[in-house]
Amino acid sequence: MASGSLLQALVDELGRLPGIGPKSAQRIAFHLLKVADEDARRLADAIVDVKERVTLCSRCFNVAEGELCDICSDTRRDGSVLCVVEDPRDVAALEKTQEFRGRYHVLHGALNPIEGVGPDQLRVRELLSRLDDEGVTEVILCTNPNLEGEATAMYLARLLKPLGTRVTRLASGLPVGGDLEYADELTLGRALEGRREVDA
Ligand SMILES: [Zn+2]
Repeated sequence: MASGSLLQALVDELGRLPGIGPKSAQRIAFHLLKVADEDARRLADAIVDVKERVTLCSRCFNVAEGELCDICSDTRRDGSVLCVVEDPRDVAALEKTQEFRGRYHVLHGALNPIEGVGPDQLRVRELLSRLDDEGVTEVILCTNPNLEGEATAMYLARLLKPLGTRVTRLASGLPVGGDLEYADELTLGRALEGRREVDA
């Protein structure tokens, strides 16, 4: 049955999304079948638009809709303080705290020797070149409070401190082993405010 296989294809695609099990996939597919055509079209267009038009910022590697992301193109942001994060989702989480007025640098991962992720797989070289170019005086290491995140922070601290940059790390108090993006705004804001100099 052709219509059955079309619906099944949608269920299969939805089921591939993170956090969507087979039951949810089926529920969403049947829901989409019922919604107004223009509502379904808006969802489909949103997916296509994001895929076609969202790229990475050429400076900080956050998501962007042009050459630079919103934060890098905002002249009111303080370019002397850089917050180093693993993922663009962490930028979103830190922005929600409204505590940070500096700029970001997105590594796109964390050191993980077992999975073959070394410094060359992360945007480390690009971070180093920004320090001089942009007159950075402080780097805040905001990697995740888990094994890989800590290892990445230590690696960067050892690399950056000899260059004369102030290197700080988020205060403890974040749920250990977790992801930055799951911390609530208040906790994250406090961790940022209470950041400490790293001794590497
Ligand atoms: Zn940017």
